This record gives sequence, C-alpha cells and structure tokens, in this order.
Amino acid sequence: MEKLTRQEPHVAKNEVYEIEITGFSNDGYGVGRVNGFTLFVPGVLPGEKILAKVVKVKKQYGYGRLLELRSPSPDRAEPVCPVYKRCGGCQLQHLSYAKQLEWKRQWVVDSLQRIGGLSDVLVHPTIGMSAPWRYRNKSQVPVGQRNGQVVTGFYAPRSHEIIPIEQCGIQHEVSDRVLRLVREWAGKWQIPVYDEGRHQGLLRHVVVKTGFATGEVMVVLVTNGERLPHGEKLLNRLREEVPGLQSLVQNIQTRRTNVILGERSKLLWGREVIYDRIGNVRFAISARSFYQVNPLQTEVLYGKALEYAALTGEEVVIDAYCGIGTISLFLAQKARHVYGVEVVPEAVADARRNAALNQMQNVTFVAGEAETVIPEWASQGLRADVIVVDPPRKGCGEPLLMAILEMRPRRVVYVSCNPATLARDLKYLSEHGYVVAEVQPVDMFPQTVHVESVTLLVRKD
Ligand code: SAH
Repeated sequence: MEKLTRQEPHVAKNEVYEIEITGFSNDGYGVGRVNGFTLFVPGVLPGEKILAKVVKVKKQYGYGRLLELRSPSPDRAEPVCPVYKRCGGCQLQHLSYAKQLEWKRQWVVDSLQRIGGLSDVLVHPTIGMSAPWRYRNKSQVPVGQRNGQVVTGFYAPRSHEIIPIEQCGIQHEVSDRVLRLVREWAGKWQIPVYDEGRHQGLLRHVVVKTGFATGEVMVVLVTNGERLPHGEKLLNRLREEVPGLQSLVQNIQTRRTNVILGERSKLLWGREVIYDRIGNVRFAISARSFYQVNPLQTEVLYGKALEYAALTGEEVVIDAYCGIGTISLFLAQKARHVYGVEVVPEAVADARRNAALNQMQNVTFVAGEAETVIPEWASQGLRADVIVVDPPRKGCGEPLLMAILEMRPRRVVYVSCNPATLARDLKYLSEHGYVVAEVQPVDMFPQTVHVESVTLLVRKD
C-alpha cells in the first residue's frame, strides 16, 4: 500500500505529461491532476485528454501549456480570433456558446450551495445573446510601433510590446474602422507613438465609444502631451468614413501610469457627449463617464430587475451602488421615488444629468458610501418598499445588509457580478427574514468568464 505521508509533488517544470482534464476553473482554465498535483491549463475543456508541458510550479498547484489535444470535447468550438491564445481579453472562445451559458448558470448554482448553503434555489437558464459577438460599445486600445509600422492591439503579458489586432470579435465594427484610420493617419504623418517603457512619444491610446441605439460615435485620442499635429487630417478622414461620428476628443495623460485616461480633455470637434438609449431611457456619455459596455444585455438585465421589483407606481425605492443611475432611471419610470447612492462624485453628476435629460423629477442621487448613507437613512426612519443593490465584486458591506433588515423592504433585488459574494450576502439575508425566490443569470460578457445575475428576495412575513 502507498504510504500516506506528505510528499513533494512529482511534477517538474518543462516536463510533459498526458493529463485528463476533469474540471474547469473560474478563470476558464482546464483543471487536471498529475501525480496528485493540480495543474491548470488554458484553452482546454473537461473530458479532454491532452499532452501538456508544465510551465510553472507552485507549492500547491501549477500551470501547463497545451501541446497536443488527444481527444477533443464535443463542446469545443473553433475560436474566431487569430490572437485568442495570446490576448487574454476572452477566455471562453474555445467553448461552444450554449455550454458557456450552462457553465455560467452552474457557477451560480455551485456558489449558492457551497458558500451560501442555499441548495434549492430556482436558478433559471442563463439568458444569452442570439449573436454573442460584436457586443461591446467601448474599446480602449494602446498604440505602438512594430517594425516601423504603427500598430494597435494589446500588450503582451509582462511586456511593453504591442500585439497587433485589426479586428476584435467582441467590439462593435466601428472600433476596427476607427483604429485602422488612426493607424493610417499616424503612419502617414509620422505622429510619434508612445513608448511605454521609455515614457516617450505622443499617441498613447485610442478610445472608441458607440451608442448602439443611436449610432453615435465618439473617438478619444489619449496623448502624452498637449500637441496634436495634423489632427484636422484625421478628423477629415473620420468624418468621411465614420457616418455616426459626433465627437472627437483629445485626452491628455502625461503621467507614467497604466490608467488610460488623464484628468483633462479637449474637445477637437463636435459635441462633448454622445447619446445612447437603453429601453426608453436616454444617456449622455462623455469621454470619462462610465457606461455599461453591453447595452443590449443591459436592457435584458435591468428589465429583469424591474420585473422583480414589481412596481406599481406607489413605491419608494433605493438603488444602492447606482453608478450613473442606469437602474435608478429604469425603475423611476414605474416608482413614486427612487433614491440612488453612489460613491464616485462624477458618476453622481452624470446620474443627475441623465435624470434631467429624461425629465425625471422623482429621483434623488446622493454621493457617498452605500454602507454609510443607507444606515443613516434607516436610523432616521426612512423606509423603502424595494431596495436594489448592484455592488462591485466585493459585494455589499455588512452595514448595508443590516440597514436593509432595519428598513424591511418587501423586496430586495440583487444585481451581482460575482457569484461568491452574492452567495455570501444571500446567506445573510436568508438567515434574517428573507427568502431567495429566484435567480436569473444574464450573459453580459459572452466569450469571457464574467458571470452576471439578478436575484429576487422577498420578505418572509
Ligand atoms: N448600476 C450601475 C453600475 C454599478 S457598478 C450602473 O448601471 O451604472 C458598481 C458601482 O458601485 C460603481 O459605480 C462604483 O463606483 C460604486 N461603488 C463602489 N463602492 C461603493 C460604495 N461603497 N458605496 C457606493 N457605491 C460604490
């Protein structure tokens, strides 16, 4: 019999093993075991037999690289993108879309069970997109140089080198077109492109924003300095080739940082903002403002949130972590009053502008931490009929959950981008008088490992 003593793993860097993939990690890696040691391999699927080379060994686990696919899974799909393996922007292109949706639902189910101890919650099938490509309305792409050519693409991992991409399968087509025009212009007029390593050169990033409902396009050139030689020539080309162009902005970022946008923007042409619509609500989008990146699915997600809120027009609603007020304005169409709370002051300013743009008077936006502001309201006796939360990855702070219990809303609608913290928070609420009625995952980011969902909780009595 094998002795059950602690052993050093029999796995060494650069060695090659045949492995059977038995699991799938949250970042989309296949998981297999070699001599009792866990190996993560990108680009492979459960059920596959592969030949992998070990590229990194840590204490408890390691990473491998696929050398040969010995028995492919029936769930495998051919990635559309030629740089899929190197880019890292997408992680699931090698998995069929139907299975991506199933996997995202299962992730929610498993988290609820393992972390939340919630085993018989109704979790609906993930609502996917009928065309899960070209869904992003914002691209932010670094500009660089390679063999004397101006290129746009992404940084190779741990390097200052830019891997060129001419078409990105998840961006709106207009982004490919704008980037081509910028490359041609920068090449022709010898615009010095930025060198990240030496912090020299002018043109750093190009940001393209598109209103899917309106067709309006904003182009932002991020520069390491004030000048923009031959800017009018680029403008002319963009106006000829990009029908929806409404705004050309120069943003100045002179700091040595990987934060893309600087503090200051100059309008070169057109308007400061473009407009878009989600459902019946209009939004003004500026160079710096945050906006949901998949507008089609945002409408689906927030439509579900609205359905779960079951508003009749009489309710007082709180929207915690409200951003630029997307959900708040959606809800305000059917509520007596909506109070939005958001920590970033610029987002609050955008939210107020968007309320005015839609002539909505029954919304109030407050700048502050949801975990501070809402407990204050609770202790002042303010009550809400429905509370909606849409927290960042770390979930809701406990003071907010306690304030929810104090306010005793009939319904809580929880929009989440992280099943683990969702499960933790649902556990808390379900131990304190709420029932988790149903969960609807919505695929906001096809081809990637991001999982978004909306949950309805109802007060027990
Ligand atoms: N519902 C929003 C997006 C929510 S994303 C929309 O549709 O636009 C989460 C938001 O929470 C971000 O805008 C972030 O700035 C904000 N946030 C992060 N921590 C916060 C806190 N402690 N209190 C309030 N808002 C916070």
